[in-house]
Parts: sequence; structure tokens; C-alpha cells
Amino acid sequence: MAIVKAKINGIDVEVASGATILEAAKKIGVHIPTLCHLNLEGFGIVNKVASCRACVVEVEGRMALAPSCAEKITEGMVVRTDSLRAITGRRMAIELLLSNHPQDCLVCPKNLECELQALSQEMGVREIKWIGEKMDYPIDKTTASLVKDPNKCIMCRRCETMCNEVQTVGVLSGINRGFDAVVGPAFNLDMEHTACTFCGQCVAVCPTGALTEINDVGKVWRALNDETKHVVVQVAPAIRVAIGELFGMEPGTVTTGQLASSLRRLGFDAIFDTDFAADLTIMEEASELVHRIEHGGKLPMLTSCCPAWVKFFEHQFPDMLDIPSSCKSPQIMMGSMVKTYYAKKMGLDPENVVMVSIMPCLAKKAEAARPELAKDDLNNVDLVLSTREYGAMLHEAGVQFDVLPEGDFDQLLGESTGAAVIFGTTGGVIEAAARTAYEWLTGEELEKVEFSQLRGLEGIRSASVMIKDFELNIGIAHGLGNARKLLEDIRDGKSHFHAIEIMACPGGCIGGGGQPYHHGDIEIIKKRQEAIYAEDRSKVRRKSHENEALKSLYSEFLGEPYGSTAHELLHTRYVAREKI
Ligand code: SF4
Ligand code: SF4
Ligand code: SF4
Repeated sequence: MAIVKAKINGIDVEVASGATILEAAKKIGVHIPTLCHLNLEGFGIVNKVASCRACVVEVEGRMALAPSCAEKITEGMVVRTDSLRAITGRRMAIELLLSNHPQDCLVCPKNLECELQALSQEMGVREIKWIGEKMDYPIDKTTASLVKDPNKCIMCRRCETMCNEVQTVGVLSGINRGFDAVVGPAFNLDMEHTACTFCGQCVAVCPTGALTEINDVGKVWRALNDETKHVVVQVAPAIRVAIGELFGMEPGTVTTGQLASSLRRLGFDAIFDTDFAADLTIMEEASELVHRIEHGGKLPMLTSCCPAWVKFFEHQFPDMLDIPSSCKSPQIMMGSMVKTYYAKKMGLDPENVVMVSIMPCLAKKAEAARPELAKDDLNNVDLVLSTREYGAMLHEAGVQFDVLPEGDFDQLLGESTGAAVIFGTTGGVIEAAARTAYEWLTGEELEKVEFSQLRGLEGIRSASVMIKDFELNIGIAHGLGNARKLLEDIRDGKSHFHAIEIMACPGGCIGGGGQPYHHGDIEIIKKRQEAIYAEDRSKVRRKSHENEALKSLYSEFLGEPYGSTAHELLHTRYVAREKI
């Protein structure tokens, strides 16, 4: 590999040919601020449009300042990042962005998380030098998941990169011209009337308050204060390894016990772990896979627990609705069991039960309202909070999460295995299914429960698992662009897989659109993933079918896995949607 030698701030630097000035500076410990730049190294996610100019530097012999995120460093280049010209140029870029920004930071949903705000502080901006004309676009709150406020858009194009290149959905692009230019759907359609999957990855990377989640915190407070309601809550696997970040804890700290304690402090009537429903999902999904294998059913079978993925294939592959598993997602299965089995056991009218979910995900908000998932016109889940919203709720209530003692979930629908917790990461659902399918197909005990060949963060992975003399071929994809490739292979008759796991978010739910902002730091995703696997290792039971509470649920209420009651309550159907 060719090496380039250059000088930055008087320090010699050697980097591989092709590196940017920004990358070279980082190598020698020189920090250059960035805003539009996004580099999720490891996922191949790079936004290098150089539109904001917040990273400009001085290059010897040039009149114009250079955007360090996009400009490659060349042999003998002499760069100054700390000259008055460079610093003034960067500050001016921020001042210009602020000149037509709404500047309502105190009430903005991204307050204290906004990268424009942080950069203003870092660059020493102390006055709004120029007062420009403000945009006056309507705020789009048409979906159950996202809010789009174009007035706060700084045209960094990060969302566009995410939506078009990573997710290949193509909802967001630059629209209008000149002063009116913003990013949004073609023809300025409402988000609700597009093929948006509600994955929330645009929200996860938007540096300002232009893209945020629908806030349901007030509705949950009102439910908790309504004496006529019995309020039940569930918490998804990926929350426990991320929520601590909102309280100053290290990324990847496992906080399962603190989560249970915090929910009790807020006064929920029953607190359940979605991990229980993840085990339930495996009972149904593994049964369906075994059934398809043994009865010549449609293969490959695709997992169906990610609602953004479900909406993606409904829009993009409406001719292939018979290949995904018919299983509802764990959040909906939990809601279904709470409003039937639990309500019956407790003598409650399901109409008075409010099911609240805390999820790493924005798509789960829209999923809860899907009519296909309701039973007798009653939604299985009523309200969904993201990890960030739940953190905000705890802050409002003054709960010091980081010093809480460890508590326990209620047991009726609370017991779970290690197989359930790994649902939180890419590869986890199919590994959990393989643990159970192996024992069911062979009748033998699986001694080595960890399938290391299914783990990792590469966008598309494949592995073969020997189940006696049957070779089960498994595919895994995270990120919808990767999923699209596997789907196209199936459509073209080129797929050799029996089962495929898909998660819409890079990394799976640990990188979900509702998780604490990672600001492009891939190390945070890796630490969350390590924590998920550590939680699995700490469990006494690590296979879903060993869950004792689940055995009681089947014997008392559901009957056989994949039987008629299970079908009625735990399975769903898909709807062909327009490819807008
Ligand atoms: S939520 Fe996902 S699919 Fe929808 S606009 Fe954002 S990135 Fe695109
Ligand atoms: S909506 Fe956000 S991420 Fe997209 S271009 Fe505007 S500021 Fe950037
Ligand atoms: S991967 Fe997880 S967080 Fe992301 S959309 Fe799917 S279910 Fe939601």
C-alpha cells in the first residue's frame, strides 16, 4: 500500500494513500470538528458530501480553505488546522448555519444532544452575527414514529445517505432549490404516504432536531395516573445494554436489575421482560421452521420480528409475502398474552389494561397500531416509548437510574433465557432459533449453545449448522440494503438458505433508531453487542424451550406450539403495499 507523508500543524504524519486530511489528523491526535460528516466504520456507512464546511482547514499554497472530511491528503501537503484563518472559517460556517436556524434550543427535542448546538459551543460562537430569513415549513407528524421539522434541516444529507444507500428505501432526498432547499420525500409528500419503514435510522444520524421521534411520554404519564387503568409495561432486550448511557454509565453496562427497579418506582402495575416473549417467539418460529422443513413448506423462512423489515418487504417485495414467518414480533406477542392470559388470570377487563412497551425502536410505535395485529379491534400494545423517551421520563421523575438497587421483573410473564436476550443483536434471533430447532430435530441435548459462526457485525453473513445429517444453511443480514440483496437472490432462484434473519438497523436493535444517540461511534455498538452476549452467558437457562414459565403458558392456555390457539393469538398476515 502506498504511503503518503505530509505535515499537519508542524507534525509529521504518514498515512495510506487515499486517506483524508481528517483521517490523517486523527492519527496524530489532532481533532478537527465535523458536522455533516458521518463515518460508521465497519458498516461501510460514509457521508462525505462536505456540505457544512465545519471541518475546513488551511492548506499551504491555496487561497480557499479545504473541507478536511472530503479532501485527500497528498504527498508533501502542509496543513494547518489551528491557524486563525482555519478557526475563523470553521466558526463562520457555524454562524451561517445559525443565521436561519429557529434557535429554539430550550424546547427542541434534540436539546443537549444536538450536534449543531455542541459545535457552536466548541467553536466559541457567542452571538448570532447574521439574522437571516427563517423557513416556515409545516412540521410533519403524520406517522406514529417520526417527526420531520424541515425548518431545522441544515442539508447535511446524513439522513439521505442512511435512507438511500444503507437502507435502499429512497424516501429522503434534496427537494426544492436555493433558500427553500431541504431534505424530504419527493413532491413533499407526508411521511405517512411514503414507503418509509420507520426504521428511525435517519433520526439516529440527524445532527439537529430536524428528525426526531414522536413523543409519547405524556400519554404514559396520563395512563399511570388514571386509576381506572391497569398499566403493564414490557422492556425489550436491547434496552438493558444501552439505557445506562443516558445516565453517564459506560456503553455496554448491563442494567437489567436497575431497569426493573426503575419501572417499579414509576408505579406500573405489572412489569414484564420482553425477553419472555422472545422465548415465546422462538417456540413458535422454531416450530414453524421445523414444520416447513419436515412438510416441504416454503423455504427459506425469513424472521419477522423487526417491524421495519416487515414494512420494507411489504412495499418492496409484495410478491414474496409467503416466505417470512407468520410470527408476530415479541412486543406484540407479549401484548397479546397480557390482554388475554394475564388479564384472565388477574380477573381484569382487557379494555382497562394499558400495555406500554419500552423499545429501542421507532418502527415499533407504528407496529403497535397495525390493524392486522389487533384482536377484536383491541390493540395488543397501546403505547410505545423509545429508550430515549423512557430515559427522559426517569429524568422528569428524578429517578437516579445509575445508583438504583437491582430489582426483579414479575414472574408470570417475566422469566427468560439467554436465547431471548440475544434477540437484541444481529444474528441473535437465528442463533436462538437454532438452539431450539437443533434439539427438536435431533432429540439430543445441544451442549455447545454458542454458534460463533452466526455472530459478528458484517452486513451479510452465512453459516451452516449440522443438525444430525441435515445441513441447515442460515443467512443473516442487517441493514435493509443488505436484506434487499438476499431477497433478490431468493427471487432469482439463487438462494441456498433454509432460514434467514433480517434486522433493519445496522447492528440490530442495539443500534435501533430509538436508542441513545451514538453520534457515529461504532465502538458503542460493539460494546452493546458484547454486553448482550455477556448477559446470555450469565443465564442459567439458555434455550427458549427450557423456560419454565413458558411451559406453564402452553400447558394452561396456548396448547401446542404452532397450534390453533397459538395461531390465533401469536401469528399474523402481511399486506402488499405500494412501492412509492
Ligand atoms: S425511517 Fe428509515 S426508511 Fe424512513 S425515512 Fe428514515 S431512514 Fe428512510
Ligand atoms: S434532516 Fe437532519 S440529517 Fe437530514 S439533511 Fe436535514 S439536518 Fe441533515
Ligand atoms: S432492528 Fe430492532 S430497533 Fe431496528 S427497526 Fe428492527 S426491531 Fe426496530
